[in-house]
Amino acid sequence: MRRALRTHHEDIVAANAGLLSTLPNLDDLDDPTRTCWGCGNSGRGLLTRAHVVPARFGGRDEPVNYFLLCDFCHDEQPDAASREVQIEWLRGRESCRARHAPKVTRLLEWLQANGVDLDEANEYVRGSEIRAAIRSSSCSVHGVADTVVALVKQRFLRQPPFAAST
Ligand SMILES: [Zn+2]
Repeated sequence: MRRALRTHHEDIVAANAGLLSTLPNLDDLDDPTRTCWGCGNSGRGLLTRAHVVPARFGGRDEPVNYFLLCDFCHDEQPDAASREVQIEWLRGRESCRARHAPKVTRLLEWLQANGVDLDEANEYVRGSEIRAAIRSSSCSVHGVADTVVALVKQRFLRQPPFAAST
């Protein structure tokens, strides 16, 4: 029978403190109770407690035997591997932010090509409509990057044709 998990995120973080400082996709500003240790993806309710060594291979139900991972990383986590192999896998994960950075670059290029005032666009991105879209998403990076790009384009496409000459 499966026992209810009692291990809190904070306990898992404390037990793995030495490991966390060596992970490439977590930095000092990240809260490791809310940020995926694999890809740096973050958001409320996003993380799952992932066994490092599975119970059937002798892994204990204790904080040091868990990583906090997003669903994407949890799905790809190697099964039945040693802690050393799991840590190597964790350190080799692609950064979620790096993966989405090209979308932001392309959006900026699009805004400039369409003559949009970047200050105005910046103000819009920091505004309530975007914040509401981010809050309603389960994660701050996956999906949200696409949502923000779509909202910004929609917002500025609704403006009258951009003046070619100023
Ligand atoms: Zn992840």
